[in-house]
Amino acid sequence: MKLVYTNENLFLVANARNILEAHRIEVMVKNEFAQGAIGEISAFDAWPQLWLVNDTDYEKAAAIIESASSDKGGGEWICNHCCERNDASFEVCWNCQSECC
Ligand SMILES: [Zn+2]
Repeated sequence: MKLVYTNENLFLVANARNILEAHRIEVMVKNEFAQGAIGEISAFDAWPQLWLVNDTDYEKAAAIIESASSDKGGGEWICNHCCERNDASFEVCWNCQSECC
């Protein structure tokens, strides 16, 4: 198994998982429910992680995630409504579901 993506925001990790699964790449999320453990282990260790079941998918998976996060040509965008930062692959704010711009 190979780690392909991690983020402190479970929503972003779940989004990456959906994208990869749409490309028929088998993935597993670790630490999905570990948030409550912060304090006992470092916050970084508790981040949700996206793991590839098959290491051979790594290059393809990394390229898919890369292109998914650069599709719109811009990088992250800031929600006008709640000022949360959003990944470029999102069209609505992950936090408040407002539409981009
Ligand atoms: Zn928002």
